[in-house]
Amino acid sequence: MATPVTTPGPSREASVSKVLSVSALRKSYGDTVAVDGVSFDVGHGEIVGLLGPNGAGKTTTINMLLGVLEPTSGSIRIEEVDLARQRSQALERTNFAAVYSPLPGNLTVAQNLRIFGLIYGVKSLSARISELLEQFDLVRFRDTRCGVLSSGEQTRVALAKAMLNRPHLLLLDEPTASLDPSTARDIRGRIRDFAAQGHGGVLWTSHNMYEVEEVCHRVLFLSRGKVLLEGDPRTLPREHGRASLEELFIAVAREPLALGRA
Ligand code: ATP
Repeated sequence: MATPVTTPGPSREASVSKVLSVSALRKSYGDTVAVDGVSFDVGHGEIVGLLGPNGAGKTTTINMLLGVLEPTSGSIRIEEVDLARQRSQALERTNFAAVYSPLPGNLTVAQNLRIFGLIYGVKSLSARISELLEQFDLVRFRDTRCGVLSSGEQTRVALAKAMLNRPHLLLLDEPTASLDPSTARDIRGRIRDFAAQGHGGVLWTSHNMYEVEEVCHRVLFLSRGKVLLEGDPRTLPREHGRASLEELFIAVAREPLALGRA
């Protein structure tokens, strides 16, 4: 059974200092503009939801923040360190977990954490691994191959791996996709705990609007590569005449131009 998580809902008093600052970020593939001049930031202690319909540019944005994709133009600063100019200093403050990026299934949980820990240059690695196995309720799976773990267990391993280097910027691409409601709640609690410590910030993509409302302090709605709306997920729907975040999401997907003018 997973460790119960007791952190209350998101605090409105999250620190305002910036862990991430993105300015005029753009990525095009030939004639396709995937990300079209996006600017936003994430504060320490803050969880920001990056929302938008399929193809809006969320994964492309995250891949640029991870240094996997080179922007066509614009800048990315992680705690004031410019990703383009000081790549390794910027990336050592970052980590991520994504459903489409599973850990090698033929390695055990402990082996995976060790290999990634070595890649990240984590000090006192054995102690850090033991700490994370405890924290993510993975002790009994230490010597189990990741490939045979359930989706929820694999997500916990992916999050443990993402915490190895004590990141200040945590990027999560649909971290609770394919999880049952109870496991998803547990994972949300762990991520909220991470943000509540105030050392780092989280950028979170999800298609689950209930989850976003529960977890995110602020949301950015992307549409066709641009930030169309930004605000508190609990008040933004009313500000745009919609009853719920889900209705607002559907409006963004179907009538982005009308909303952009509102
Ligand atoms: P989803 O919710 O479906 O994951 P997304 O918001 O993450 O969508 P992206 O994957 O960032 O969207 O894609 C944004 C746009 O860029 C899409 O129109 C996609 O087809 C296009 N695109 C992404 N990668 C490439 C590529 N390598 N070459 C050409 N077009 C691409």
